[in-house]
Amino acid sequence: MHPQQLIGLGKLTYSSIKDTSPYSFAIFGVNYAHRGINRRLLRYGGEDIRPDVFGIEVTNYCSRVCEGCYVPEEIRNDMEVIDEHLLLSSISQAKKFGIRNFGFLGGEPMNKHTIPLTLKAVSKNPLLSFVYCTNGDYIAKNDVSYFQKHNNVGFLLSLDGFEDMNDSIRGKNAYSNVMDASKQLSSLRKIISASVTVRDNNIDEVFSDDFINHLIDNGFKYVVWIKYKHNGSGINNDELSDEEFIKRLGDLKKSTMTKPIFQQTNIFGDFFTFKRRSAHHTIYMGIEGDIHIDREEILSHRGNLNKNTLEEILKSIRKEYSTKYNF
Ligand code: SF4
Repeated sequence: MHPQQLIGLGKLTYSSIKDTSPYSFAIFGVNYAHRGINRRLLRYGGEDIRPDVFGIEVTNYCSRVCEGCYVPEEIRNDMEVIDEHLLLSSISQAKKFGIRNFGFLGGEPMNKHTIPLTLKAVSKNPLLSFVYCTNGDYIAKNDVSYFQKHNNVGFLLSLDGFEDMNDSIRGKNAYSNVMDASKQLSSLRKIISASVTVRDNNIDEVFSDDFINHLIDNGFKYVVWIKYKHNGSGINNDELSDEEFIKRLGDLKKSTMTKPIFQQTNIFGDFFTFKRRSAHHTIYMGIEGDIHIDREEILSHRGNLNKNTLEEILKSIRKEYSTKYNF
């Protein structure tokens, strides 16, 4: 860690204590630290490949049509939601396996059917962290103050630039809904973070001082820079090379070290190390229990939790999973 990053971390800790619930701060802090400590312990024990984040796709449905969305259009119109038993049992199995950080994904994971269901899992597991990875549409249009009592819930809002850029990628009112959602969630003292997909055509904008300050000013404590991977569905191939992405991240790191925002990338880990090994080791489950290891390859199944245990599935894909994280 660069000494200047300690300044940023200090400011972030101060603003988090000031702006968010101390219980949330403690739960998310402990579970995040658990991830790192557990990983080191496993390595000392000769085991390297356990996932530490479990992304659960609670529905494939989403009414938006963002450019480059990983969810194929044919399943994005399906309103089915995950079975309650599968949701709860997969979480308890992952918990036994040492996973404490969970994401609710979609499609769009926040609608009137998925919220009551996912809150059952949240209430049953008050010491695990749950993050809704959302486009903010539902929050912007509804009163979600009932989330205030759930200290183990945070929100990851999708934002790919200022209004013109963001809405050209994510559709009409996507930007204003995220901003409205961030206001409401901040007033509830929830931990909010931004998920920013970085492409050739928005990197100058989202890596600018103005944009980072805009996130900080609007209460975002954490940003995940997702390297856009072209899946053939977008009009343009805006994918950056890994080399270009890591070079630009290095420049960004230098210019933002003292800012009060935690930064992480989906493939190069956090801003303290930029190592693939420090990235979240995520595993995903679809609504039918199918496990996949790449968000972008939502239909590439590696096993099914209705038929096999997580441990069995991971054993069978050990090599592939460890290659992904460069062990
Ligand atoms: S909001 Fe998410 S799930 Fe919906 S279309 Fe956009 S990227 Fe896909």
